[in-house]
Amino acid sequence: MDNPSEACFRPALDGFRWDGVDRLAYKEEGSALFKAISRQVLFADPELACELRYFEIAPGGFSTLERHRHVHAVMILRGHGWGLVGTAVRPVVPHDLITVPPLTWHQFRAGLDEALGFLCMVNARRDRPELPAAPDLEALRALPAVSAFLDLPPASV
Ligand code: MN
Repeated sequence: MDNPSEACFRPALDGFRWDGVDRLAYKEEGSALFKAISRQVLFADPELACELRYFEIAPGGFSTLERHRHVHAVMILRGHGWGLVGTAVRPVVPHDLITVPPLTWHQFRAGLDEALGFLCMVNARRDRPELPAAPDLEALRALPAVSAFLDLPPASV
């Protein structure tokens, strides 16, 4: 097949994979605390100012608790779990949309029985995430709902 337009089509594969898309470890740099996450970059074209990625958090896993100037636009695709954005904690299920504003603490946690998969759109050029220092964690834990979220996963929430 020598029609270059054919390469524009990348079929979905079983298991939330896509043809020609590598499945990568979540982060290269070491210090951030996270657990059981994979990352696939679906779209990253120089003509676009953004990237679209697919993250999957294994049961009981969680993303890094972080904040940064760039924003995220998230759509849940599979499973269920919980999200923290700022001081709000909510259960999340497929097709929910979550916006993460600039400089806002955020984290996703998968339920114990199912992976949590989501699309995340992000600026192609972006600042490095900041991790919470002790006073930040103290302020977050002062809110009971946030404190309970940070201690997930219990048997049920
Ligand atoms: Mn982030």
